[in-house]
Amino acid sequence: MIEILDLHKSFGALKVLKGINVKLEHGKVLVIIGPSGSGKTTLLRCFNLLEVPDQGSIELGGMKLNFTDSKKISQNNVVTLRQKTGMVFQSYNLFPHMTVLGNVMEGQITVQKRSKVEARKRAMVLLEKVGLADKSDSYPHQLSGGQQQRVAIARAMAVEPEVLLFDEPTSALDPELVGEVLKVMKQLAAEGMTMVIVTHEMKFAADVADKIILMEDGHILEEGTPVEVLEHPKSTRARQFLNRLS
Ligand code: ATP
Repeated sequence: MIEILDLHKSFGALKVLKGINVKLEHGKVLVIIGPSGSGKTTLLRCFNLLEVPDQGSIELGGMKLNFTDSKKISQNNVVTLRQKTGMVFQSYNLFPHMTVLGNVMEGQITVQKRSKVEARKRAMVLLEKVGLADKSDSYPHQLSGGQQQRVAIARAMAVEPEVLLFDEPTSALDPELVGEVLKVMKQLAAEGMTMVIVTHEMKFAADVADKIILMEDGHILEEGTPVEVLEHPKSTRARQFLNRLS
């Protein structure tokens, strides 16, 4: 289970998260939506401490961190929490000098200390899963954006994280390549992978989410099932946001 309580984050004088509470059961999918600048990416990056919150707490995979004094968060704790998460970025962020196989093996060898033989075996299983086993010897620049993103998903999965975090995984893709990435994500959701996804793909959100939160100005404006949030939003502001998208 993941539990976030009263999370605050500022960048200088700019308050970006203003008291966020989120609970997500194991095996469920949380989708974060909301207008540009509302704090979605910042919240997602707090899950793996790419941003360290100023206040509040995060509980993830049996580990709880309090941020009343974030300077006291040790590097060990940062590393331990990060190992419980896998992150997929908008711009894929693959290692350009490594093959597809090398990318999916790397974390297993350096972080998990698996042997090369083991790492290769698991990498090939995952590449098969995302439909790219035949590209294992290619380099990232030889792949389409959709293929690179699928490799990035396999790489994130390779270290067996408790939760996969996705930051607008399809925003950088040509429209015709979005479907292949969403298909892989849907498959993972169906297999019971716990996932937190920031996206602007509302139809996908409606299909895949167990829970949606709609953020505005550092707060959670609406929270609930896709039907509750997307079809029956309580607030006028949420209705305005959703109407602009349709
Ligand atoms: P978008 O949909 O446009 O990606 P978002 O909801 O994900 O937006 P964030 O990226 O979390 O929003 O940004 C929220 C606010 O925090 C913005 O005003 C942004 O400029 C600011 N911000 C984000 N990261 C930093 C940073 N590292 N330093 C300073 N300001 C930041």
